[in-house]
Amino acid sequence: MRLLLVEDDDHVAAALSAILARHGFRVTHARNGEEALQALLPADAPPFGVVLLDLGLPDQDGYEVCGKIRKRTAIPVIMVTARGDVRSRIHGLNMGADDYVVKPYDTGELLARIHAVARRTGTGGGSAADDSTPAGPRRSPAGPPGLVRLGQVSIELPTRRVSVDGTDVPLTRKEFDLLALLAQRPGVVFRREQIISEVWHTSWEGTGRTLEVHVASLRSKLRMPALIETVRGVGYRLVAPGPGAS
Ligand code: CA
Repeated sequence: MRLLLVEDDDHVAAALSAILARHGFRVTHARNGEEALQALLPADAPPFGVVLLDLGLPDQDGYEVCGKIRKRTAIPVIMVTARGDVRSRIHGLNMGADDYVVKPYDTGELLARIHAVARRTGTGGGSAADDSTPAGPRRSPAGPPGLVRLGQVSIELPTRRVSVDGTDVPLTRKEFDLLALLAQRPGVVFRREQIISEVWHTSWEGTGRTLEVHVASLRSKLRMPALIETVRGVGYRLVAPGPGAS
């Protein structure tokens, strides 16, 4: 898997690159926000599987860099920072980060988080033993285009059909749009404002409990109350049922 390491401290970057290389990552090092954004441009190279983004950068605020990355690409971003308070974490998630690691971190934990994010977002490039699909745009493994599979749930985007264990589940238009949106990036937290803007095409004032009602209805219709997780104060995410989970 290719990994973009954004870190202005050369010593930290060298040590981390060596560890990551030993674990099979092909690391590209960017020393500031501008280099990071440049590194993401070339379309001829295989895409990065993950960006490790230090928030304390010399040229731009790391949160801003994350926002810019998010505008261009869906590559998973893990923020690495010394700022571990809840507000910073929520701000990081709001800017589109997929995960957040606080320094000093255990490298074993960092590696586990990289793999988890890549697995969730489908950019792992076949690092799982039984998954030989090449790294590509995020899509459910081994599915035809337009079909998203999450455990027992199948979502057919072109026909807007949803089934659980092969049985069709009739959804309203907005219920389907909401599920399809969350299913684009399982495991990633979508902010309430973002969901309301994308599904209802409006800002969130005045929508009352519309979103909550639709989430509740989806949980009940799909008979999977745990499929959509509430992230308090932020929004929702879809929890992909893991293989072997019952
Ligand atoms: Ca730094």
